[in-house]
Amino acid sequence: MKEVLHTKRFDSHPPPAGIWIDIEDIGVEGLIIDLVKSPSFFDFDDRDFKIVHDVTINCSLSRSEHDVYLKGKVSTTLEFRCGRCIDNFIEDIDTEFSAEYIPEKKEYHKEEIELGESELNVYYYEGGRLDIFPSVMDQILLSIPIKPLCNENCLGLCPHCGQKLNIHKCSCKEEDGDNRFSILKRIQH
Ligand SMILES: [Zn+2]
Ligand SMILES: [Zn+2]
Repeated sequence: MKEVLHTKRFDSHPPPAGIWIDIEDIGVEGLIIDLVKSPSFFDFDDRDFKIVHDVTINCSLSRSEHDVYLKGKVSTTLEFRCGRCIDNFIEDIDTEFSAEYIPEKKEYHKEEIELGESELNVYYYEGGRLDIFPSVMDQILLSIPIKPLCNENCLGLCPHCGQKLNIHKCSCKEEDGDNRFSILKRIQH
């Protein structure tokens, strides 16, 4: 019985994906990583957007002693739901970012991290290899608009009948202007 439960939990939480780099591979001249990952590689299932195209990742890594600096570029196509008319739409993202990877449990870093946090995203690594996947995931999330709109002039839905106003107007349109006033009038009567 216990075993069954355990298996179930494992099925719903597969081991997290990663893009692992051996720090030894980052030579004096740095290391260039160019990758293309399919949307299924990313676990954004609980988010209100979807990756609908392969994700291109271009990174250049350099290091000084134990610290690794990453300059990266992520591009793909995302599908959103418009915050006004609730239609789905797609949008390309093409975004650049920087990150710094430092060894875990290094006390002497603490001050530097606090100072540098506004410019660089700081991640930790241990055991001679680092995972660039979290910084790529974070960068995709950062490029997501808070309220996605299919078009900044999207007319949305009629608050009365739910008609999609981008497609055509509804007959309640004229009441919109003095809506509050008419509610007031109704209350007064
Ligand atoms: Zn819209
Ligand atoms: Zn209407």
